[in-house]
Amino acid sequence: MKKWLPWLIVVTVMLFASAGVANAEKATVTPRLILDGVELYPSAPPTLIEKTTMVPIRIITESLGYDVDFNNSNKEIKVTDGKKTIVMTLNQQTAYIDGQAKEMYKPATLAKDVNSALVPLRFVGEALGVNVSWDNVSKAVFMYSPVVVEPVPDPDQGNEQVLPEPDSGQTPDDGSSQASVGKVNEVFHDTDSIYIMYNGSVTPKTMVLSNPSRFVVDLPYMDFDERFSPALPVDPLVGKAGELSIEGGSNIQKVRYSLFSKQPSTIRFVLDLNENADYEVVNDTMFGALHIKLKQNDQQEQPQQPQQKPQYTVVLDAGHGGSDSGAVSIAKQLEKNINLAIVLKTQAILAKDSRIKLILTRQGDTFPTLKDRSDLANQSKADIFISVHSNSNDSAAINGTETYYTREDSAALANVMHPLFVKATGLKDNGVRTKNLHVTRETKMPAVLLEVGYLSNKADNSVLWGEAFQERVAQGIAAGIKQYLNL
Ligand SMILES: [Zn+2]
Repeated sequence: MKKWLPWLIVVTVMLFASAGVANAEKATVTPRLILDGVELYPSAPPTLIEKTTMVPIRIITESLGYDVDFNNSNKEIKVTDGKKTIVMTLNQQTAYIDGQAKEMYKPATLAKDVNSALVPLRFVGEALGVNVSWDNVSKAVFMYSPVVVEPVPDPDQGNEQVLPEPDSGQTPDDGSSQASVGKVNEVFHDTDSIYIMYNGSVTPKTMVLSNPSRFVVDLPYMDFDERFSPALPVDPLVGKAGELSIEGGSNIQKVRYSLFSKQPSTIRFVLDLNENADYEVVNDTMFGALHIKLKQNDQQEQPQQPQQKPQYTVVLDAGHGGSDSGAVSIAKQLEKNINLAIVLKTQAILAKDSRIKLILTRQGDTFPTLKDRSDLANQSKADIFISVHSNSNDSAAINGTETYYTREDSAALANVMHPLFVKATGLKDNGVRTKNLHVTRETKMPAVLLEVGYLSNKADNSVLWGEAFQERVAQGIAAGIKQYLNL
């Protein structure tokens, strides 16, 4: 079985488009393909056949970096992104995602040309985390590459894969509870920085991607201003998308931007980088400017783990408290209480260890502000900062455990902590993620925010409140702290 047999160049993909295409059938429309805001021009043009758009898989595989194998003896097509593998057999409706059977809308099949095969794009794309949507006005297929660590497939979740968001709209962790509405006026480049000018208020969300290196900034609840500069394409078929190419020796090759989502209206900026570098977004709310710049490494060459010393200061932060209840569980329990219970149990475990000096941001039902919490950690010159939260999502199906960090110097702590933490919860492993959160951003030491599980999910919530569960999670957190500190 050889990768990229020559004929695979003409393997095509079939998109089962939404019902809105019904009026546009009879193969008169050539659908446009927009990947991450950039229009693709495949060598074999996509066509609509019986409400189905066919596009060449080469475009998808090349652009998203997937591998495709075809085994001619058993007519199997295998698509993999290195983590997940989809196996489809020609003319068989059942596909296998990591060995698990899933029914496709339409089977992979040979097209008119004997050298081409068709497989359903929506099925393949969504299985690998690509967001695929059909816009009937512009007759375009919009595809967005995966942007977060892929959730482990959940056998109970059917075909729909929804990416969990931490504390979405529920808690003030990242300010996203305020539905900010604003317009982006302009994007421009200056030396090694990108500036995004806006009206209104915005809470940017950032992601770091590699292979190829990208830095992604999402602006939820934002739209392009009519006067946006550089001007967006006049051609309404292309949609609100464009790019800014960058000349000269900058590490930024270009900036792509598009209206990434309509609900909520979200603008995505993608910086294509020559090589991995640490960027940060500084939000100047007074001038309505987002400054995306190379991160200053003032403590140059931070060791991966702290140097051994007789005693370490560890700040434990129980999220929310007092007037801020945090998320509310499906059984009406309050997030602030479980966060505190786990922190107090962690404290009890570590209190016996004289090598660790513990500082708690709260010991009871009080509400220190987010700034109080980061200030306390910074002023006490803590070695590490651990914030404990429990998650919630509008979708009751979302479940599992996540570890978040913001600054690169927290990655090592997150990567040491997460496996011990997630094992202790026994819940679904949603992985280590980056997110722009106050307490992990404004603290000056390695800092992580732990999301134990989802209060909005029936199964998660049923175990979260158990004493034994909380004790086990506290043990996991304590073990993560000790392991990171080499104790
Ligand atoms: Zn929270």
